[in-house]
Amino acid sequence: MSTDRIPGTDPAPTPVERTAGGLLGVAVGDALGATLEFMTPEAIAERHGVHREITGGGSFRWRPGQGTDDTDLTWAVARSYLDGPWSLDRVAGAFLEWYHGSPRDIGGTTARALARLDRTGDPITSGETGDRSCGNGSLMRCIPTALVRADPEVRRRELREISAVTHAHPLCLDSCVAYGEIVAALLEGAEPDQAIEAAASLPLRARVLEALAVDPDTPPERLSTSGFVIDSLRCAVWALGQDAELEEILVTLVNRGDDTDTTGAIAGGLLGVARGVDAIPSRWLERLEYLGPLTGAAVKLTRPDL
Ligand SMILES: [Mg+2]
Repeated sequence: MSTDRIPGTDPAPTPVERTAGGLLGVAVGDALGATLEFMTPEAIAERHGVHREITGGGSFRWRPGQGTDDTDLTWAVARSYLDGPWSLDRVAGAFLEWYHGSPRDIGGTTARALARLDRTGDPITSGETGDRSCGNGSLMRCIPTALVRADPEVRRRELREISAVTHAHPLCLDSCVAYGEIVAALLEGAEPDQAIEAAASLPLRARVLEALAVDPDTPPERLSTSGFVIDSLRCAVWALGQDAELEEILVTLVNRGDDTDTTGAIAGGLLGVARGVDAIPSRWLERLEYLGPLTGAAVKLTRPDL
């Protein structure tokens, strides 16, 4: 693996490199950020200087390279496309299997929705719709659908359905659709600005369109890395607009603190699809507990039409 692909000179990543980049981009962002979850930028600087290695630890005492909920649930969604004909019940089953394993980090909205799903068995009505449930917990796991589904109508419908199992608020649904549109366009060879434009042409909520319109020259100090879905989408779109190396962009974002693992995962997914898996530092990839499963999944899930 090389980390020195120069945009405009090296050949464009192949579809399988982009698919692997998307899945593993989520996993490296998650694992890099997990160490810093809930910290302030000041506390990070004091304790870590600049955090740029996958070292585990953090408030949940992660193993280095262990997947947190972001990668676990991305894997759950990926599996729903790997294991035969896709259905929402298959996704729901994978989510409940994870939930019953007593994950050490689980968001409040996800926990309440999966408890409801466990009681009722109905993934259509399990998700939360209140204004306090606009977290990034469905955006963080939505990339497999965007990578797999070539038909825009099917892709958008499944992105909404899978989000709504836990996060049924319109801002969460629209954020997943926007993110999915960007991923699909990148996969088909669009430049980042064209991919963002493709998403911005859809009839989405104003707050989602505002996040898509983030100025790439915004100083990172002015980005919010909270768990609010709009903040996470804005950070990911900002990341996609940067010219720096993938490593530098993710390091900059996670060192902003707060919801570091999920902000890193969501931005890492977009960067991975845009630049391909070879843009991810090999020393990060080698740390990942999910390296084998996600690499294998990428080969199987790469769209045959590309
Ligand atoms: Mg997490």
